[in-house]
Amino acid sequence: MKTYDVLVIGAGPGGYVAAIRCAQLGLRTGCVDQWLDPAGKPSLGGTCLNVGCIPSKALLDSSHHFHNLAHLLPAHGISVKDPKIDIGAMLARKDRVVKTLTGGIAGLFKKNKVEWIQGSGSLQSHGKVAVSGHDGKTETLGAGHLIIATGSVPIEIPAAPLDRDAIVDSEGALAFREVPKRLGVIGAGVIGLELGSVWGRLGSEVVLLEALPEFLAPVDRQIAKEALEILQKQGLDIRLGALVTNARKSGNAVQVHYMDTAADEKHELEVDKLIVCVGRRAYTDGLNLAAAGVKTDERGRIEVDDRCRTSAEGIFAIGDVVKGPMLAHKASEEGIAVAELIAGQSAHIDHGNVPWVIYTHPEIAWVGKTEAELTADGIPHCVGSFPYRALGRAHGAGETTGLVKIIGDQKTDRILGVHIFGASASELIAEAVTAMAFHGSTEDLARTVHAHPTLSEAVHEAALAVDGRAIHF
Ligand code: FAD
Ligand code: AMP
Repeated sequence: MKTYDVLVIGAGPGGYVAAIRCAQLGLRTGCVDQWLDPAGKPSLGGTCLNVGCIPSKALLDSSHHFHNLAHLLPAHGISVKDPKIDIGAMLARKDRVVKTLTGGIAGLFKKNKVEWIQGSGSLQSHGKVAVSGHDGKTETLGAGHLIIATGSVPIEIPAAPLDRDAIVDSEGALAFREVPKRLGVIGAGVIGLELGSVWGRLGSEVVLLEALPEFLAPVDRQIAKEALEILQKQGLDIRLGALVTNARKSGNAVQVHYMDTAADEKHELEVDKLIVCVGRRAYTDGLNLAAAGVKTDERGRIEVDDRCRTSAEGIFAIGDVVKGPMLAHKASEEGIAVAELIAGQSAHIDHGNVPWVIYTHPEIAWVGKTEAELTADGIPHCVGSFPYRALGRAHGAGETTGLVKIIGDQKTDRILGVHIFGASASELIAEAVTAMAFHGSTEDLARTVHAHPTLSEAVHEAALAVDGRAIHF
């Protein structure tokens, strides 16, 4: 039986990063992954690279360029007559981006001497994994330590069964061959908003049906309110308190039935395509967790402690398959920490300092606590905010929508949360994450020199505003 110091199951951003870090630390490492691309070829990178973060951002960028032709560029004096989109070319570009990056991981595996084992892993008694290869052959591998990183899959709801043609999940929505005239999206969460934005910018009439009465419940309330207004102005028809009860294909269209929960009224909507984006569930199918004594929680996630240790000795679990936000960088950080723990180093994961980004335009990004959470926890805090419209660079770029909001502890001034709605929020949030990693204060940010003219000046000014010292507003 072939044995490894560490066997990783799953090669998404959790598993592949864990495997590379294990190998860097001198551990003999194998990584089992079952992903097949649309051509039936094994492909590394999991959900994130194949059908998640990367292809969605590729299409968000393409559609943003197209949208700007009509909405941003005329103000710059640039006009393009009758702009056209070639959806085939757009999708082919997205596929090339995915291929380059998944191929890049194969290169990294080679360089780091991580063995890529293509097939599905299933736990046997402790320390053994049976792998069914894509060729139908099965082999048993041994490992000193196991890292489970099998990720998540879209949740399917009986109200809207997928037919993978007119009713699709997020993966299907990354591959529409033409722009649907009328597009329905169930769930106005992170993924629903991103996919709705892509097709809306390309010309679809988009209706998002969200069961909750509140828009983006985890987001700062002021930012969620402003974002809702802006996204609606962009043409996204976001209906809150709209619980989808039934959706079926009928002829060439999809009939969607939903309840307006506030008014207790039934409504019907006809669309050409429907995307079901109601969240994701931890994926442990076929893993045979019980054989190795690995416990799961009430939501089917593998139970872990704060160091990603499962209930079974020597078995760790990371990423979407365990508790916490379903984010690629959270999975990767857990992967690095676990590799270092296995190698005998100390490792710490700061789960309180994980940034979130929603890649609408403008983007929404945040880290740490919201004002509402701090108020609920009884923690006295101070808030400073600064609008993009008071930034020179934002005017130059034609990106004056949005704000930066910084929350500090009233007693210690330590930064407790930073919330951004605006262009490049995904990049700006990194400064806040770094400051918080160093337990920085709002005064630290206020005394840090920021280049002019940049959007980052909004972070600086918001920090000054905590103490009522903003200069430009
Ligand atoms: P995954 O990436 O899901 O990888 C798990 C891997 O394990 C897969 O390759 C799977 O085939 C394999 N596997 C499962 N079971 C077995 C088995 N028994 N044997 C062998 N292999 C197995 N996150 C962000 O941070 N930023 C974003 O912008 C972002 N955008 C997203 C957009 C979309 C449309 C979607 C769907 C997700 C997005 N996410 C984003 C979420 C992100 O993709 C996940 O959080 C991330 O992929 C989780 O990584 P993971 O390694 O835990 O699991
Ligand atoms: P997220 O958790 O960010 O992926 O978002 C998924 C969203 O889908 C959540 O906001 C849910 O409230 C929403 N949702 C789940 N089921 C339904 C349903 N049947 N109809 C409308 N929205 C739903």
